[in-house]
Amino acid sequence: MAHDSQPPVVLVVDDDMAARLMTRIALEEGGFDVLEAEDGIPALDIFRSQKIDVVLLDVMMVELDGFATCAAIRQMPHGQHTPIMMMTGLDDTASINSAYDAGATDFVTKPINYGVLTHRVRYMLRSARNADELRRSESRLEKAQAMAKLGHFNWAIDTGEFECSSEIERLTGVASGTTISTIAPLLACVHPDDRGAVDTQFGNAIAGGESLQLGCRVLLAQGGTAHVHLEATCSTVPETGARVVSGVAQDVTERRRLEGLAHKLAYFDTVTGLPNRTTLRKDLGQALARAVGSDSVVAVFSLDLDNFKRINDTLGRDNGDSLLKTVAERLQACLRRRDGAFGVKANVRAGDFVARTGGDEFYVVLTQFRSAEESAVVARRMLEAIAQPVNLGGEDLVLSATAGISVYPVDGTTADQLIDRADAAKNHAKAEGRGRYQFYTSAINARAFERLSMENNLRKALQQEQFELYYQPKVDIRTGRFTGAEALVRWRHPDLGLVSPANFIPIAEETGLIVPLGEWIISAACRDIAAWRSQGLPDVRVAVNISPVQFAAAELPLLLSKALLAAKLPVEVLEVELTESLLMTDTEQSIAVLAELRALGIDVWIDDFGTGYSSLSYLRRFPIAGVKVDQTFVREMDTNANDAAIVAAVIALARSLNLAVVAEGVESELHLRALANLQCDYAQGYFYSPPLPAAAFARWVTEHRGPLARAI
Ligand code: C2E
Ligand code: CA
Ligand code: CA
Repeated sequence: MAHDSQPPVVLVVDDDMAARLMTRIALEEGGFDVLEAEDGIPALDIFRSQKIDVVLLDVMMVELDGFATCAAIRQMPHGQHTPIMMMTGLDDTASINSAYDAGATDFVTKPINYGVLTHRVRYMLRSARNADELRRSESRLEKAQAMAKLGHFNWAIDTGEFECSSEIERLTGVASGTTISTIAPLLACVHPDDRGAVDTQFGNAIAGGESLQLGCRVLLAQGGTAHVHLEATCSTVPETGARVVSGVAQDVTERRRLEGLAHKLAYFDTVTGLPNRTTLRKDLGQALARAVGSDSVVAVFSLDLDNFKRINDTLGRDNGDSLLKTVAERLQACLRRRDGAFGVKANVRAGDFVARTGGDEFYVVLTQFRSAEESAVVARRMLEAIAQPVNLGGEDLVLSATAGISVYPVDGTTADQLIDRADAAKNHAKAEGRGRYQFYTSAINARAFERLSMENNLRKALQQEQFELYYQPKVDIRTGRFTGAEALVRWRHPDLGLVSPANFIPIAEETGLIVPLGEWIISAACRDIAAWRSQGLPDVRVAVNISPVQFAAAELPLLLSKALLAAKLPVEVLEVELTESLLMTDTEQSIAVLAELRALGIDVWIDDFGTGYSSLSYLRRFPIAGVKVDQTFVREMDTNANDAAIVAAVIALARSLNLAVVAEGVESELHLRALANLQCDYAQGYFYSPPLPAAAFARWVTEHRGPLARAI
């Protein structure tokens, strides 16, 4: 094609030299560059080596005539679209036809009217350029469509002419230019299941002159199935009244695949392929909607593998994952077993499913139960299935799981309610010991709620120092003199007032909050003792209660010495009370700690003695100062012979072991008399004083410097 800066080049091929000359003059005057050839052969040589924009070709030549030359040019790669004008004899119809057959663009008849020749050449050149531009934009469109897997087609219904792009040819197997009198050849490629719908929609569109949009599956000639989206309109050409269906079709197979993948990632767990939490909630919601009005029951199981974190940490992530897959398979097998006997392959009932919501948390939803009891059978089966050994890397591993069950409609009516309650039941089961299942009860919920709000409140209480220490004096029964005190913690809650330690210590222990709370108690006791000292009070020995949880978690000797050091106090001012249950577990370790405390000079007392199961001889092994007889025995001493006997025995045995005895809960003169008779060493209780705030306790000590009350 000519560049705009250079004149177009015309190759004139004619064996008549005079005609060539005339033509050259006319063309050069019209602004063209002209090359000449006197026959077909040299013309082809020139065409091959030079850039030619237009060819003027005489028909009659000696060696290679115009038709052959024209055909040869069309064979050349750059000669396909070059405009070629044939010069024929006047009214030589046969030649004209042959010229077009050979690929000529146009013809002029001889003798040539040189005045119009340049115009005709220019016109031919211009339309060649337009055609070229069109071809290029068509090829761009074709490429773009190929990339988008988009194809277009036009079907003239009345004549049957069908034109389409290559993408449509690929999808339908119908070639562009084919004549189609009915839709049948196009329908042939459509998946049999979709064929009816496509046929109907096409029929409606044609009959009603409307547009259509549809998706269907297409069976490809090269094999495989493509998902195709089709849009078409049926219109009438105004001039001719001809009806045309034109449209586009797009192969959306890949897009569908990616959408499917995205869907999978959003709604399914990647490790096991099971529904994730989103899908669990949605599908459970649907199951509940179906159950409304029927008398069937829906059960939600919340399952945790016991100790999974430890297994995962020791075996590595890959083994952990394969373990989770095994569990998933076993749970699904339990769903199938619902309807089949052992070993019989049965389908999973519609609506039943297993989900994994992360970590080792699984949920199982079972529908169409007649009663809640039925679900207990399934729960047992699931726990048994999980408890079967798993072979991992040649080693047999035994897992166990804990499950909680909630049941629609009794335990809740929404998916979230049922999931939460199955969780609460599971947590309750865990606290009772793992490897079991538990149905939800409203008591569990109340307890869980109370615990949760208590836990949050306790945290806040620690930050805001809502705790106080009360002190209860201990008295030497023989001398009637005050010898020390027990520190008892109180929680002054802004709304609830004074909360009893019996209500919050167990929760502080369960949540671990007892550790920081215990530290606070120790240093608060030291602060109070130091304050009393500075007020000129005689040194008060204070016993602090140490929870087993704190005993296990903290280095007690270190903690105590630090607190004493910080308050600049001698060690003798502190004592410790421990429960006997603490000594029963991990005995060797306990003995080591007790020995350290004794070496420091801190006395240890065994609290609530008599309520546990340790024998006194067992106590021989522990380096302790003495025992505190539990107040429940002391209080009932005068009315209950059994309790009196226990107290008597404890005191006698303690004496034989050289241990001192404190009687708690001394409320009356009668108690005191009895204890004195039994030669009990110390007494503590309301008879002398209830636990008192620090300032009130200091006053009490000043007022009771002398003997308080002497027995007998
Ligand atoms: P405990 O160690 O056996 O404490 C003695 C309990 O008996 C105290 O209850 C005390 O107020 C009560 N008491 C004292 N004299 C009498 C009496 O004559 N009659 C009757 N009926 N009761 C009497 P409190 O203060 O409610 O403490 C209950 C339990 O809470 C304690 O039992 C102890 O196990 C725990 N506790 C209290 N303070 C602390 C603490 O600072 N740390 C730890 N770890 N536990 C504490
Ligand atoms: Ca105590
Ligand atoms: Ca006690």
